[in-house]
Amino acid sequence: MRLSSTINPGVSVSFCEAVDRGIADDGGLFMPASIPAFPPGFFNGIGSLSFQEISFLVAQRLLEHEIPADALRRIVEDSLTFPAPLHTLDDRTFVLELFHGPTLAFKDFGARFMARTLAYLHRHDPRETTILVATSGDTGSAVAHGFHNVEGMTVVLLYPSGRVSTIQELQLTTLEGNVTALEIEGTFDDCQRLVKQAFADRELSSRKKFTSANSINVGRLLPQAFYYFNAFARLPAREPPPVFCVPSGNLGNLTAGLIAWKMGLPVERFIAATNVNDVLPRFLETGSYVPVQAVATISNAMDVGDPSNFPRILALFGGSLPAMRRMLSSSSWSDDETRKAILEVFQRHGYVMDPHGAVAYAALRRYARGTSTGIILETAHPSKFPDVYDTMLKENLEVPERLQALIQGTKRSVRLSGKFEDFKAFLMSS
Ligand SMILES: *Cc1c(COP(=O)(O)O)cnc(C)c1O
Repeated sequence: MRLSSTINPGVSVSFCEAVDRGIADDGGLFMPASIPAFPPGFFNGIGSLSFQEISFLVAQRLLEHEIPADALRRIVEDSLTFPAPLHTLDDRTFVLELFHGPTLAFKDFGARFMARTLAYLHRHDPRETTILVATSGDTGSAVAHGFHNVEGMTVVLLYPSGRVSTIQELQLTTLEGNVTALEIEGTFDDCQRLVKQAFADRELSSRKKFTSANSINVGRLLPQAFYYFNAFARLPAREPPPVFCVPSGNLGNLTAGLIAWKMGLPVERFIAATNVNDVLPRFLETGSYVPVQAVATISNAMDVGDPSNFPRILALFGGSLPAMRRMLSSSSWSDDETRKAILEVFQRHGYVMDPHGAVAYAALRRYARGTSTGIILETAHPSKFPDVYDTMLKENLEVPERLQALIQGTKRSVRLSGKFEDFKAFLMSS
């Protein structure tokens, strides 16, 4: 597969180069120059394929034999050691549960695939690779777990001090070995800026080998397309094509869904559901993209004021706002509305949703027409956000055993200002 940059379409790199570099030299994001589609017949037989089989076929089609089939199959199978089941709320509304991985959030899919792809690419390389990750909560944990104790890899996590939940902070700071957590005095956007600056800094990059594992890395982005195909395969009826409702922050999950659609997956529409950080719904309404300072909410993994994947979304629609509006809706929901949605899902269906999925539920309810089939992407397990639930809901909250395993140990972090010089000094000395 060839990829170009969202800034300069003349750039052309392979998938492996794009995974390794993270971001293009011109500061743009890598994007498939063309997206290979499945023949329509593929979707007739998809119901008989397992999640792993579907994922391998999607990866193979995307990568066009850049990684030999047996190695690619191993990467897919080692990454997807847990399911992505479709839970039925009613005969037209489904929840795609993406929280069955080790860190109980959908980012496990991308992080594990990317870690294994990088390990494969560097299997003969003696130099240490440093993975830089800015996280608003769940990314860092998924990436850290994805890379934990992988030889030749060091992970540096940056998270905004005081802006992640207690449980999220423990997940970020209790891994030892090759993982260091930096507690940054600032917002998630500040963390993202520091990572971008580090990549652009010539002195740093001459001394160290960096790569990113943010949702900007295509190695994390593309595997997120797998579960859209799987959701379609698990539907009781393929007609009408489903509406996918995606709780959105940095827009990586949405971008992956749009790529799945471009590969031929039948989709009626995408709904990008945001919390009050509503840059995308505003863009769809007004046509102007105005980044904002992120506001803290109970769906904190979506507290993003300048979604980094926005240029990719734009590129997927050839820069055309009318084309985007034909396929994509977006709406914004307050914390109060999110809490109401959590209660409503529980009262109607006896199902406890996490705050991110609940934002999507609210958005789908507004959109839903009589005949549509809706699939809500449930991006995290509700037990990760105990502070959000009242006593009644808490009693109905199942706490998976693997949550306990995640938060054992003592917090270890390095506190840094949001200044680039401090971050650089840390990287130079480590
Ligand atoms: C990261 C995250 C999101 C937002 O996904 P994007 O790909 O950044 O849009 C939503 N929910 C949860 C639980 C997350 O961790």
